[in-house]
Amino acid sequence: MRKLAPSGTPISQRDLFLWARSLFSRQTTLNRLAAEISKSFEIDQCFFFSTGRAAMVVLLESLTEMAPTTKSTVVIPSYTCYSVPSSIIKAGLQINVCDIDEKTLDYDYDKLEQMDFSRVLAVVSSNLYGIPNDLDRLERLSEEKDLFLLDDAAQSMGALSQTKRPAGTYGIAGLYSLDKGKVITSINGGIIVTRSSKLGAILQRKTRKIPPAPIPWCLVEILKMAIYSGFLSPRRYWIPAALPFVKLGITEYTTDYPVSGYNTMLVGIALSLFRQLEAINDKSIANAAYYQENLPSSEHLRLIQPPPMSKPIYLRYPLRITDNMRRKTILALLEKSGLGASGSYPGAIVDIYQLRDRLEIDGRDFRGGRRIAEQIVTLPTHALVEKLDQDRILNCIAKVLG
Ligand SMILES: *Cc1c(COP(=O)(O)O)cnc(C)c1O
Repeated sequence: MRKLAPSGTPISQRDLFLWARSLFSRQTTLNRLAAEISKSFEIDQCFFFSTGRAAMVVLLESLTEMAPTTKSTVVIPSYTCYSVPSSIIKAGLQINVCDIDEKTLDYDYDKLEQMDFSRVLAVVSSNLYGIPNDLDRLERLSEEKDLFLLDDAAQSMGALSQTKRPAGTYGIAGLYSLDKGKVITSINGGIIVTRSSKLGAILQRKTRKIPPAPIPWCLVEILKMAIYSGFLSPRRYWIPAALPFVKLGITEYTTDYPVSGYNTMLVGIALSLFRQLEAINDKSIANAAYYQENLPSSEHLRLIQPPPMSKPIYLRYPLRITDNMRRKTILALLEKSGLGASGSYPGAIVDIYQLRDRLEIDGRDFRGGRRIAEQIVTLPTHALVEKLDQDRILNCIAKVLG
C-alpha cells in the first residue's frame, strides 16, 4: 500500500549521523546553524524558538516596544496559515484582514493601499507554498506608511523575490518554521531573522526571559523525529496516517501553545537539512515544473502566478479548480489513492469561528480569500514523490476536468 505524505523532508542516515554527533555540542551546533543562515541570507541575527508561532508572538511583542502604544493592529492576508492570527491574539494585538488576489495568493494591493494604517503596527506577508509575495512592493508600502513588515517565510525558505533577495529577509524581520511540513524541519522550531540591531537587542532580552524547552518535551520530540524519519516513506506512511491521535494535516485554530525555547536536542537535524536546502528545493521545483507542463488545459483549472522573475521553491504545488463539484471529486479521488493532495486551509481567515468577534469586517466581502479556500488544491512536490505518482495525479485531474 503506497501513500504519500502531503509534504515532508526525508531525514537520511547521514542526517541522523550528523545529529548524533552534535548531540553533545548543541550550543555550538545552534551557533553554527545561526551563522550559516545569516551568511546565506545576508542577515545579522537569528533567534530560535519552540515553534514558528511562538517566534511570531515574541517578535510581535518586541515590535510593540518599538512603536507608539497607539499602534496595536496587525494586517494579515485573508488566506494564510491559522497560526498567524493566533500569534497576533496571543501577543495581545488586534487583527485587520486585507483580501488577497486569487490569481497570485498575494495581497490585493489596490485594497491594501487604501487601508487606514493609523493604528497599524505591522503588515505580514504569507509567501504560501514557497511562492514569494511581491516583497519589494510590500516593503515599499510598509516604508511609505511607516509600518513594520514582518516577512513570514515559514513555507518559503530559499525562495527568491523578483530582485533575487531571499523570502524572509524583507522588512524589519523575517520568520522561518522548522515544523514537520515545512522546507526543512527539526519536527518543531521557529526562527526569527533580522538586520535591525535595535530589534536584535530587544529580542535578545526577551529570549533570555522565556522558559527553556522542557526536557520531557525534547525527549518526546526525539521520538517523533525517529518515527517521522522512519515512516515518511510512501511504503510506510499509511501506518501513522491510520492512527487517529496523530492528527496529520488537520488545521485547527488555537492559541493554546507554549512560547518557549528551541529544542536544541534536534538542532543537528536542522543543520544537516539546511546544508541541503538547495537540493531539497531543486527537487520540489522540478516536480512543480512537471505538474505545470502536464496539467490539462481546462476552463475549470487556473494556475497561481508567481511574481515575474521570482524564484518560487514550491513547498507544494497549488492550483485552483473553479468548479466546486469537480474540486471535491478530485480531492476525494486523490485522497482515496493516497496521493498526498490536499485542500489546504479549510477557510479564509475571516471565517475562522474562534475569531468571529475579533475581526472588523465592515461590509467587505473578502472574495479573494474565500474563493481560494473553496477552490485550492495543493499537490505534493517533496523528494519522495515519483513521476509515477505525478502521472497518476495528472491523470486523475485530467479525467475529472475532461
Ligand atoms: C507554519 C506556518 C507558521 C507557523 O509555524 P509553526 O512552526 O508551525 O508554528 C506561520 N506562518 C505560516 C505561513 C506557516 O505556514
